[in-house]
Amino acid sequence: MVHETGNRTVDDAVERVLDGERLDRTDGLALLAQPIEALAAGADLVRATLGDGTVDACSIVNAKAGSCAEDCGFCAQSVHFDTGIDTYSFLDPEEILAAAKRAERDGAQRFGIVVAEKGVSKERRPDEWAEVLRAIRLVRDETSVEVDASLGILTEEEARILAEEGIDHYNHNIETSPRYFPEIVGTHSFEDRVATLEIAKDAGMDLCAGVILGMGETPTDRVEAAIALQDIGVASLPVNILNPVAGTALGDQESADITTGDIIKTIAVYRLLHPHARVRLTGGREVNLSADEQHLPFEAGADGILTGDYLTTEGQSPSDDIEIMERAGLRPNTTVNDFDPEAVGTGGSSSTDTTAVGSATSNARND
Ligand code: SF4
Repeated sequence: MVHETGNRTVDDAVERVLDGERLDRTDGLALLAQPIEALAAGADLVRATLGDGTVDACSIVNAKAGSCAEDCGFCAQSVHFDTGIDTYSFLDPEEILAAAKRAERDGAQRFGIVVAEKGVSKERRPDEWAEVLRAIRLVRDETSVEVDASLGILTEEEARILAEEGIDHYNHNIETSPRYFPEIVGTHSFEDRVATLEIAKDAGMDLCAGVILGMGETPTDRVEAAIALQDIGVASLPVNILNPVAGTALGDQESADITTGDIIKTIAVYRLLHPHARVRLTGGREVNLSADEQHLPFEAGADGILTGDYLTTEGQSPSDDIEIMERAGLRPNTTVNDFDPEAVGTGGSSSTDTTAVGSATSNARND
């Protein structure tokens, strides 16, 4: 028995994870009930033992904004809500390349091309599909970052083409537990989301799929979501925290319905349930965690971050994100993009231009 934290439930779970065992729902619920100090220490031990001591940063471009026909209750880009955000059609691929180059400069290891709609369709909008592929090729060929995509639902043919073009991760968040999902989204189902993830995985892409915390879900829902993601098999698990946007279905909430302690505990449980995934702190962190708290998830098992601005709101500067990692005793991942930390921007990745660069966030979209 490893007695690293002195908490029997946590130490037993850590030992089993390090032995290669997959923890289940019962384990997840028992862990969530443990004191935060022991839970964070156990998760940190798993990260330190199985990880490489780095935080992986990604960034995305909001390549097509607003006018989405879906009704996700947190999303500023749905036509069901009057949120006053800018809407635009698919950006010029050269603009997307420029955004990728800025993300590369700012330390991103991966760069995601995101569109705000149910799905880019090769059959219904062949011209737009061709532009998506042109953007992917430009970023792939002219930067060092890995190219990811978040294009909504996919057909098998579309997934095969994306994999052939070199898409590394396909992002399609599940948002919450299967039980709570219908409370948040009415126009498509949890199963629809899982189906697209399966199609992307079968085509050979790694999966990036995560959740939004603080939408009114229970702690059990948070564990259930992580268990659903175990079955799907994710390489990257983004954890958004709701940043309510006026006009959306969840816009009346003053803030995310979750405490700082519960955010940290949930991330720690996710680390133990997903020992080999990048548990990635994403949208809503700046508004739900103070500057003095943002490093805490990285002392509780998190090892990924979305850096720069968000899709419809500003984030903090990439240099601040590096400071957060270092405060937690971690360093930026440079496996893919060996960037120059001195050149990292201090004003947010979109501060020097008008392109919407950012991260899939709780107040934008989370496909
Ligand atoms: S989260 Fe995605 S699918 Fe849902 S409304 Fe927003 S853009 Fe549309």
